[in-house]
Order: sequence, then structure tokens, then C-alpha cells
Amino acid sequence: MPCPVGIMINQCARMSLMLRRAPSKSWLTPEMQEEMKKIENCLHCGQCSRKCPYELDTPALLQKNYEDYQKVLSGEVKVQ
Ligand code: SF4
Repeated sequence: MPCPVGIMINQCARMSLMLRRAPSKSWLTPEMQEEMKKIENCLHCGQCSRKCPYELDTPALLQKNYEDYQKVLSGEVKVQ
């Protein structure tokens, strides 16, 4: 899915789920942190939402997942 700022939408929008489904370590690598950080650059252009077959508010979903990700990184929220 083309995102003008290069956010890996499919992966990043379900990060909270991924962190809890498998050992979280593989999702907390510096490379993945870089990918998640791109969410800060979201333009809220709505291109992704318009293409979403489930009519999700994708930018809001990304933001929510990013906040959770940061809490896991800091240790505030514990996962496996
Ligand atoms: S709203 Fe954000 S995530 Fe969606 S396409 Fe635009 S910049 Fe990318």
C-alpha cells in the first residue's frame, strides 16, 4: 500500500497484536523501531483509510499502536 511517508501500514497497524502473539523481541529491533517511528510523520492524508476495505480509521489505529509500542519499549507495559 503506497504511503507518501513510507509507513509499513499493514505491519505497523497491528503491532500491538504482533507483540502479544509471538516473543516480542523480534518486533523490538532497532530496524523495527525505525519503522514504527515513521508513524510520527503521518500526514493524516487519508489515502490509506480510503483504500481500507474495512473502513478503518487507519491513521488513528497507527497512532494507538505506536503509543502501545513505546510503552512496551520503555517497560511500562509488559509482554512476553
Ligand atoms: S494517513 Fe498517514 S499512514 Fe495513511 S497514507 Fe497518509 S501518511 Fe500514510
